[in-house]
Amino acid sequence: MQPVVASSDPRKIVHIDMDCFYAAIELRERPELVGRPVAVGGRPGGRGVLTTCNYEARAFGCRSAMPAFQALERCPQLVILPVRFELYRAESKRIRAIFHEFTELVEPLSLDEAYLDLSALNSSGAALAAEIRFRIREQTGLSASAGIGPNKMLAKIASDWRKPDGQFEVRAEEVDAFVRTLSVRKIWGVGGVTAERLAALGAETCGQLQDIDLAVLHRHFGKFGADLFELCRGIDRRVVNPARERKSASTEHTFRNDLPDVEAGLRELVPLVVELLDELRAKHGDRAVRSAFVKVKFADFHQTTAERRCLEGAPEVYKELLEEAWRRGGGKAVRLIGVGVRFASLGGRGAGEQLELFD
Ligand SMILES: [Mg+2]
Repeated sequence: MQPVVASSDPRKIVHIDMDCFYAAIELRERPELVGRPVAVGGRPGGRGVLTTCNYEARAFGCRSAMPAFQALERCPQLVILPVRFELYRAESKRIRAIFHEFTELVEPLSLDEAYLDLSALNSSGAALAAEIRFRIREQTGLSASAGIGPNKMLAKIASDWRKPDGQFEVRAEEVDAFVRTLSVRKIWGVGGVTAERLAALGAETCGQLQDIDLAVLHRHFGKFGADLFELCRGIDRRVVNPARERKSASTEHTFRNDLPDVEAGLRELVPLVVELLDELRAKHGDRAVRSAFVKVKFADFHQTTAERRCLEGAPEVYKELLEEAWRRGGGKAVRLIGVGVRFASLGGRGAGEQLELFD
């Protein structure tokens, strides 16, 4: 008889996150830099942002997404290396092959992170995670951290707990205690603005959030309110989806005070576009762009998106798209601006091959 996993058993979801992935690969290729503060990213002349820093650089306060010039102020001896996506993609592919020795249920989040659903396997989630990390180190010389839990949200939070080169498990019976003191910022989908609105309702931890009625959450957050109600209790029903293909990338900002006119909008546009371009460079350097778009949400919560086909989202394109979207509001103030790109489809390839783009 085949052992059967009863549907009431908790799932075994593992989130694997490579440690300082790009920097770790570069250091493996250049052992003479080991022990020195190293970052990957930036552009010549201290422009651009860092994508990854090793722990030596972090000790100086350098962080990923930090402008390179600022990192150099904190750590003048910081070695900043150019990004080499081809190399990282090749490494990512080797790691994904290791995942697939365990299960087909692998959902990559980026080049260096993935969810695995190991519920069908007999060993414990922790033992399997340890084995996966061992094989990654053996075959690539790189270290990974892992989180193990009954769902994606908890597994992802847990992978941060023993970083680097460690793993942490949240068992089903420990979920209540684990989430109670957890910051609401750790909840999947909660960004800075939502966190501030939750704080205004008296909820800074998931335990405090649990005290808020579903109806109240619904009134304040719409459909997401129902998600919040479950997520703050450690309930996350999302499945690990191997076929997921990222279709777009965007950056948006909700303004504390509504923007009165398009001139004010244009002033806010530049930092958003810079952030988007840096993110594209850092995380999606492997994807071809199909179009650029600007989303505008007006003070009355109506929203509109202006979009144009192009192979590269140049800053002038976003300026024109913003003006177009703004005109549609007929003079209304704006509370949110988003800028983004849609990626060309990975179509025409087999499903297995699509995942090689790791997004
Ligand atoms: Mg990582």
